[in-house]
Amino acid sequence: MTAQLIDGKLISAQIKEEAAIEAAQIKAQGVNPCLAVVLVGNDSASQVYVNNKKKACEAVGIRSVSYELGAETSEEELLRLVAQLNADETVHGILVQMPLPKHINEEKVILAIDAKKDVDCFHPMNVGLLHTGGKGFLPCTPAGIIELIKRSGHTIQGQNCVIIGRSNIVGKPVAMLLMQENGTVTICHSKTRNLAEVCLGADIIVSATGKVNTVTADMVKAGAIVIDVGMNRNEAGKLCGDVDFEAVKEIAGAITPVPGGVGPMTIAMLMKNCLVAAKMQNNLM
Ligand code: NAP
Repeated sequence: MTAQLIDGKLISAQIKEEAAIEAAQIKAQGVNPCLAVVLVGNDSASQVYVNNKKKACEAVGIRSVSYELGAETSEEELLRLVAQLNADETVHGILVQMPLPKHINEEKVILAIDAKKDVDCFHPMNVGLLHTGGKGFLPCTPAGIIELIKRSGHTIQGQNCVIIGRSNIVGKPVAMLLMQENGTVTICHSKTRNLAEVCLGADIIVSATGKVNTVTADMVKAGAIVIDVGMNRNEAGKLCGDVDFEAVKEIAGAITPVPGGVGPMTIAMLMKNCLVAAKMQNNLM
């Protein structure tokens, strides 16, 4: 059997089109949604991510303002900028690109961002709201994973969902969202015993380890949905995920490619959060 290819490029384009319509509706009500993007230092990967976010804003019709600060910027200076953006009523979302240079405490910066403008959904207030099922922001990559599964025609309710990885950015929040969709969730990590056996019981596998070949064909039940979050380089230096794609696609029912799967979804969901922020701050919810 050859698996259905879950096309993240296509689905993310649909979400951005929907966001563009919503952005126009918000503007018609007199609010101009705006995202502030802050980059500290000259990490080339971060630069690419920030540029992609700015391009997506332009395509959707969200104003973006960008602050590119030198690597020597102090924690105090960055916190001052965050405070200024918090106070600026024309800015609805604040995104500080991670990772930050080592001399800056990332947790302090996350805590300093006004939770109402925290479009990355990293602030403990928003993490808490996610856990209690409250309204507000959804974490971008995890929410993108849910959209990929649902929009490619699959149900989560009642399915056995196995997540490999327990990070704050992917593993834990995706577990919460899958549970909210009535999936039965198991979270695995580097200390999990018999990972293959656990995965074989899964209807849906989400792998977010950052390790090549975490999921091999012998770990996948026939017909299972396999979502590959990993972004790795193989021995030849080529971008690849956590999943042995060529072998697993012959067994799985549906699978995401890398690139072109989860990756494009993260920015699309960020656009949605910017619109949520603009609406929340202007009582348009
Ligand atoms: P992370 O913070 O390094 O967490 C990795 C998790 O995987 C940890 O919980 C770790 O277990 C677990 N793990 C590592 N090796 C394992 C193994 N062999 N078996 C089982 N579990 C294992 O990584 P992350 O930030 O969640 O990111 C994971 C991957 O997703 C990376 O490749 C990253 O680049 C990618 N990513 C992609 C996007 C996107 O937009 N496409 C967004 C975010 C992340 P322990 O907790 O026990 O150490």
